[in-house]
Amino acid sequence: MNHYLGYRCTFCDTEISPTEILYTCPACGGNLDVVLDYRRIQQKYRPEDIFSRAEGSLWRYEPLLPVTDPGGLATPLHAAGWTPVYQPERLIRGLGLRKFWLKDEGKNPTASFKDRASAIVVARSREIGADVVVTASTGNAGAALAGMAAAIEQNAVILAPKTAPAAKIAQLLIYGAQVVLVDGSYDDAFDLTIQASREFGWYCRNTGYNPFTAEGKKTAAFEIWEQVLRHFRAGNKPLCVFVSVGDGNIISGLHKGFKDLMALGWLERMPRLFGVQSELSSAVADAYLAGTEVITPVKATTLADSISVNLPRDGGRAVRAAVETEGAYIKVADADIIRAIIDLGAAGIFAEPAGAAALAGLQKALAEGDLLEDDPVLVINSGNGLKDIRAAMMAVPNPAIIEPTMSALKLHLEKKGRIE
Ligand SMILES: *Cc1c(COP(=O)(O)O)cnc(C)c1O
Ligand SMILES: [Zn+2]
Repeated sequence: MNHYLGYRCTFCDTEISPTEILYTCPACGGNLDVVLDYRRIQQKYRPEDIFSRAEGSLWRYEPLLPVTDPGGLATPLHAAGWTPVYQPERLIRGLGLRKFWLKDEGKNPTASFKDRASAIVVARSREIGADVVVTASTGNAGAALAGMAAAIEQNAVILAPKTAPAAKIAQLLIYGAQVVLVDGSYDDAFDLTIQASREFGWYCRNTGYNPFTAEGKKTAAFEIWEQVLRHFRAGNKPLCVFVSVGDGNIISGLHKGFKDLMALGWLERMPRLFGVQSELSSAVADAYLAGTEVITPVKATTLADSISVNLPRDGGRAVRAAVETEGAYIKVADADIIRAIIDLGAAGIFAEPAGAAALAGLQKALAEGDLLEDDPVLVINSGNGLKDIRAAMMAVPNPAIIEPTMSALKLHLEKKGRIE
């Protein structure tokens, strides 16, 4: 695309030409930001040009992306993004907030936020003529790559820990990717993927490592701008966005998206970004609380597998996203995450643990008085609950089993009544 200028390192400002297939900074190893020609975009487009587009997917933001739409109009590639935003009254009453939105990323074609990154990376792979795209994954990134690659007949190889939830492994296999499970952690799979991409010349999608993943994830910020922020009146308090954090690429992608809009003069006020981590996988939150962008690895054990990461690969930018937007990091217990699954379910939204973690973080921030009832809040549910049935069943009691007779049903209901 002619408004894609290249890359710039987030940490040492090294600039790199757009034609290089680069992952991290050759000078310091830091994450690279994709640089766009904002002046050129401003000359060609106005916000109204975006708002009036009929495209109901993340491709409505093509003017702000560093890749061109690879086509596949009638495929799931054109179902990624443009997810719904709800205002669930029951949840709002429980939270005691005046303005609350929930953006449901479980509605993406492979049922998680990762479709955004994978759609953009397969577009890039098409542009650079890559034969094979490879990714390490806790499950969702792989499912998303496998699904988006299948949509445009791109070969994909996925390395995931053998402990990934069964539903996610099933997705990988059904979408026809070459699947290799490693007897190790997500971090082990990550390192192996990078070695394999070097040796075999595969294009590597790894979250945070590939600069285009954030460019996909930033499209959620554009949607929040269109669906929520453009209806704000001047003088409104800034929107507080809550999202769960594993590698830290969703939160840094959201930050990039809002920064793009500010640079274009299309957004007046930066939303505050709040990252939520499990206490059992808290490397980014720990760095934030210690006041540093340097990430110290942890031994992650949370049941929220999508955010179970020892060494977050986009941790520095993820810390910065909260610091620069006057947001914060919040650590929650796994028991709080399980409870949040139930609260979302009662509002008709089925979230996997990593998705519910964002709500658990908001609940904790409210309980501790860090937010007020007139703060406008948007929570992102990043993944569908069908992804991890085992975790879902931990949140609820087993249902009763009875003889199929009225007397047995009556007896059961009576017993229940007595208990309540
Ligand atoms: C990957 C993932 C996250 C975390 O995103 P990061 O970019 O790794 O921080 C959160 N929720 C779900 C469902 C995910 O799949
Ligand atoms: Zn650098």
